[in-house]
Amino acid sequence: MQSFFGKSVYKGIVLGPVVVLKNTDSQVRRKKIEDVESEKQRIEQARKQAIKQLEALYEKAVKEVGEASAAIFEVHRMMIEDEDYLDAIDNMIKTEKVNAEYAVAVTGDHFSGMFARMDDDYMKAKAADIKDISNRLVRNLQGERDVDFSSMEPSIIIAEDLSPSETVQMDKDKILAFVTVHGSTNSHTAILARMMNIPALIGVPLNPEEIKAGMQAVVDGFNGEVIFEPTAELRERTMQRIAEEKEKLQLLQTLKGKESITLDGRKVHLYANIGSVDDLGYVLENDAEGIGLFRSEFLYLGRNDFPTEEEQFQAYKQVLQVMAEKKVIIRTLDIGADKQVDYFHLEKEENPAMGYRAIRICLKQPDIFKTQLRALFRVAVFGNLSIMYPMIISVEEVERIYEIVHEVQRDLEKSQIPYRIPEQGIMIETPAAVMISDELAQMVDFFSIGTNDLTQYTLAIDRQNEKLNDFYNPHHRAILKMIQMVAENAHQHDKWVGICGELGADPELTEDFLRMGIDELSVAPSMILRLRKEIREMKVSENERN
Ligand code: PEP
Ligand code: MG
Repeated sequence: MQSFFGKSVYKGIVLGPVVVLKNTDSQVRRKKIEDVESEKQRIEQARKQAIKQLEALYEKAVKEVGEASAAIFEVHRMMIEDEDYLDAIDNMIKTEKVNAEYAVAVTGDHFSGMFARMDDDYMKAKAADIKDISNRLVRNLQGERDVDFSSMEPSIIIAEDLSPSETVQMDKDKILAFVTVHGSTNSHTAILARMMNIPALIGVPLNPEEIKAGMQAVVDGFNGEVIFEPTAELRERTMQRIAEEKEKLQLLQTLKGKESITLDGRKVHLYANIGSVDDLGYVLENDAEGIGLFRSEFLYLGRNDFPTEEEQFQAYKQVLQVMAEKKVIIRTLDIGADKQVDYFHLEKEENPAMGYRAIRICLKQPDIFKTQLRALFRVAVFGNLSIMYPMIISVEEVERIYEIVHEVQRDLEKSQIPYRIPEQGIMIETPAAVMISDELAQMVDFFSIGTNDLTQYTLAIDRQNEKLNDFYNPHHRAILKMIQMVAENAHQHDKWVGICGELGADPELTEDFLRMGIDELSVAPSMILRLRKEIREMKVSENERN
């Protein structure tokens, strides 16, 4: 028995034979050529062929894993038309008089090396995409066909790395798990693995050359371990765990792709809460209909300086692109209280939860706010973005926000930078906002109720204080009445209203929320399918009330 640990990108457990995938990079030889034009022609043909292949892959992926995950092949199709990349290839053929295959392979290595050396995880992940498209062009130039995975037995795939196109071409019924030596949790392959509900480990320090095909192995995604040649006892234990997991998941999986709709036809949007780009996999895996709360402040945590406009733009863009046309609600910076960041130089406060935080910082230090708004408005052209502002207590705050929004808009206009002002909503998480929600509803596009803070401010209970756990009652009638009031005020002004605090995921209250008219629930990704099940089994129309 030999075991290795890696990073798990999908939790699950399997037992089965392994298949070792050899590196699919084609062997490319350098040849001297005379006819530059004919080599360029060959590139053009290979490129056209690649576009057709990628379009076919896109169609296949849309059917199998949905539009959001298929988007990677759209991205590849765009990359293969990138002028810098194509010019670099043409230039190499012209200046060095080399064959097309060689020019593509070397240019691919240069570009992917350049991305791999970047600090930004998103840009790093592009390295694999560039390699993928370069390999495709080389294969097309050499007349090779895409690797055929369809004849494989159900197996654990061991590879140095896997490209998204290799991943999606595999017949998912025949894949038990992926184990790769390289890869990042942000990579599209990891996203696809999660989407396919396939246990996957990345960064596993093994040598694929030493793994014999057909060898049995256990992949345990719960603790990130792969165990080769397990004992009979471990095999038996694993089989038991597999059966247990299967039972738990089976019921819920059938709800993927289904609507969140009650028996009497009331639809509700079930969105996911995320804190970083890394969480996108869970969103897809659990079939969330959108993202109802992206806590953007997590981009500001764990670093020594403010994220630049460009860094934010790239992170938001990745979220929008992965979510394709689905709604993504990004909450502007909610720093302060329990989320402290040294470089903000916030003073120590007696009552940080009631202190200098969230929108208050943004309004007092508009430069920080404007950087984020610029990134958001620029990125809004790439998808279905909405934004929302946290910790609102007054009409004047919203007015001031809009002034700043207009300043940012004017700057972007002046610089002729493409942008879009997205739908703008506010979080209702202070009793003040609840009480004036009739006025606020006339000023904004939507409300999202933050029950975590709303409960702490309404019950005067610090949500961080463990001693008060017994007093902290999120089912308190005061909270439920407030939610009801906010929903009524929103609807009176034709605005939609959601809940993004933890209470939104409480199945005991789902029926009440629907009866109150809540239009959207944004919850931890793992709760999506469970809530969908509840919703699909309930009736909420008036005459069903007990
Ligand atoms: C809330 O307060 O309910 C909320 C969703 O925001 P956070 O938990 O990030 O404060
Ligand atoms: Mg809050």
